[in-house]
Amino acid sequence: MAVLPIAKIGNPVLRKLAEPVDPDTIGRRAFQTFIDDMFDTMVQNEGIGLAAPQVCESKQVVVMECAGSGGFPRTVLINPTIVYYSPQLVEMWEGCLSIDGLRGKVTRPSMIRVQGLDREGNPLDFEAEGLYAVCIQHEIDHLIGKLFIDRMTDLSTLTQLHEFETYWQRKEPATVI
Ligand code: ZN
Repeated sequence: MAVLPIAKIGNPVLRKLAEPVDPDTIGRRAFQTFIDDMFDTMVQNEGIGLAAPQVCESKQVVVMECAGSGGFPRTVLINPTIVYYSPQLVEMWEGCLSIDGLRGKVTRPSMIRVQGLDREGNPLDFEAEGLYAVCIQHEIDHLIGKLFIDRMTDLSTLTQLHEFETYWQRKEPATVI
């Protein structure tokens, strides 16, 4: 197990376009270990998703998992593309392991269709909705240098963690991605 250091907002790696992964390298031990390390880093930091640029690897790799009701399964997306966005929108509180102590409301399509590769290099093609769809969009944004604050249309909900817990959390739990 290895917990990797997390790049924080202001680190240029978070603003770069991530490189696609060469599918021939997916089966290599070093790549598989990197994915395991990404999961370890995500869990250690109590996140539900992590993109490779957040650990200073500018590659198109995302890991996600959220246990419990309303959660979603352990997911690895390599070279992902969102091929459909629903016209219906959902508004959720988001946070980010690269932006310490802030939460904000973001409106995104509530259902998406995603294509990419799994950690064995097999093709993936699935639909996701709700929290899963929001998390996938947040993580894929990291692969194009976007952060959730860029997606906020109303900065008046930008909230420090203590104030979030005091005024908002019980009514509207956040999604810490
Ligand atoms: Zn994030």
